[in-house]
Amino acid sequence: MALMGQMMSAPLLISSIIKHAARYYGSTEIVSRRTEGDLHRYTYRDCELRARKLAQALGALGVKQGERVGTLAWNGYRHLEVYYGVSGMGAVCHTVNPRLFPEQIAYIVNHAEDGYIFFDLTFLPLVEGVAPHCPNVRGWVAMTDRAHMPAEAKVPLLCYEELLDAQDGNYEWPQFDENLASSLCYTSGTTGNPKGALYSHRSTVLHSYASAMPDALGCSASDVILPVVPMFHVNAWGLPYSVPLVGAKLVLPGPKLDGASLYELFEQEKVTFSAGVPTVWLGLLQHVQANQLKFSTFRRTVIGGSAAPPAMIRALEALDVEVIHAWGMTEMSPLGTSSKLLAKHQDLSDAERHKIQEKQGRVIYGVDMKIVDGEGKELPWDGKAFGDLLVRGPWIIDRYFRNDASPLVDGWFPTGDVATIDADGFMQITDRSKDVIKSGGEWISSIDIENVAAAHPAVHMAACISAYHPKWDERPLLVVVKKPGAEVSREQLLQFFEGKVAKWWIPDDVAFVTEIPLTATGKMQKLRLREQFKDYKLPTA
Ligand code: AMP
Repeated sequence: MALMGQMMSAPLLISSIIKHAARYYGSTEIVSRRTEGDLHRYTYRDCELRARKLAQALGALGVKQGERVGTLAWNGYRHLEVYYGVSGMGAVCHTVNPRLFPEQIAYIVNHAEDGYIFFDLTFLPLVEGVAPHCPNVRGWVAMTDRAHMPAEAKVPLLCYEELLDAQDGNYEWPQFDENLASSLCYTSGTTGNPKGALYSHRSTVLHSYASAMPDALGCSASDVILPVVPMFHVNAWGLPYSVPLVGAKLVLPGPKLDGASLYELFEQEKVTFSAGVPTVWLGLLQHVQANQLKFSTFRRTVIGGSAAPPAMIRALEALDVEVIHAWGMTEMSPLGTSSKLLAKHQDLSDAERHKIQEKQGRVIYGVDMKIVDGEGKELPWDGKAFGDLLVRGPWIIDRYFRNDASPLVDGWFPTGDVATIDADGFMQITDRSKDVIKSGGEWISSIDIENVAAAHPAVHMAACISAYHPKWDERPLLVVVKKPGAEVSREQLLQFFEGKVAKWWIPDDVAFVTEIPLTATGKMQKLRLREQFKDYKLPTA
């Protein structure tokens, strides 16, 4: 007969995280820059009480367990309350990315069947535009107080603070099956319609535990953590859960994400740790360098979402900020790997150490990965062989929301990324499979080319895309935005590649542009670029 363990059984519920923070870190602060313009501060104890009031208010509005409640909001304390209030009462917190086109937003809200939408005042025009196309939404809640409610709106609005004021907070977080749905994020959908990743309480709590560990994001109660990555992009990489879980002070930057505003908040609130996509660090670095500033407390940052250019890793290091390069995706909650050194790396030279930090890193416990060739055969971990990257684990998607077709291949989720894995298990993304440049049947990594270009002092941003070539099929074209006031010629840039990549990897041409289009999550939109340059004639063609 099987012998069962005799330990207590407690479901892994999201409400337990905020309950823990309120009970054991009750006076630790949450500081938010509000859309109203001022800085708001309160504690985990206050946050949990208000999340309970919100759960009561949702009940009063008729929201049922399992129902989706949408948000269109920045990183702020009210958004955090919605995270906990909605999931905590058993409904599903559906963060919608307000940077998407209105048609995509309406599609997502309708597909998810959101019953209510909570939004920041910034997004009122967006709400007024999409509301007529979202017939299932029963109410639009402006996340502000009565005094700041818009005098006129084309949509009937509910007032967030009034909803809370009507409740007494006398509410016990309900206990239920940890496998119930807790939150929902749609992929940005660069091709086809966006698809929903429906997380569970269990997957979220496990992901929060694992991502807080020292070799993952390494969050601690002694940290002050500012997630620049938006709460509408894969739950800000889980930080709204892992920060209260460890009891760190949380700083939420609201709508102001420019270099100067971020720097001011970093200094004023003594931020030690942050996280964001490379494009946000470009703005912050530019501000710090142009004004010859230093960070007094900021010492570590996670960069992910797209490859962290080596030049950026070194620029931050020169400011005493350690970069933790991490990789993941919406379908993975999102964290999969992070690049922290091993004990045996202690004595490496700076250059050798950088090579490791530039990789996307090792899996955190819970995630399993492999690379395979075109036939699905597993490839060796030698740091050279590259192939399709597949993953599996308890916080990785099994299927998309309201879509019965399984995306899995023999129980593994195909990431759509192409990667190498070295003997120590450090994975390195060479490309998104659709961005790889196929020159004469051989593959060129667009990320490698971009990384070299980004290290040129005159380059602000660089994207490498394929352009048609009659002999080689595809050849790399480098699209560059120069730094303000900087000068560099096509020839100088191409020369810069000599000795840094294989000769046949050097782009065939450079196109200077004033702007590279970004996706709703701040990544370079290569699909749009490829469209823009689809008739481009290479000088080598
Ligand atoms: P999303 O679901 O929007 O977070 O996008 C996930 C995709 O972003 C991944 O499949 C990768 O292609 C890309 N990505 C995320 N992190 C990194 C990274 N550190 N380096 C390169 N690509 C990344």
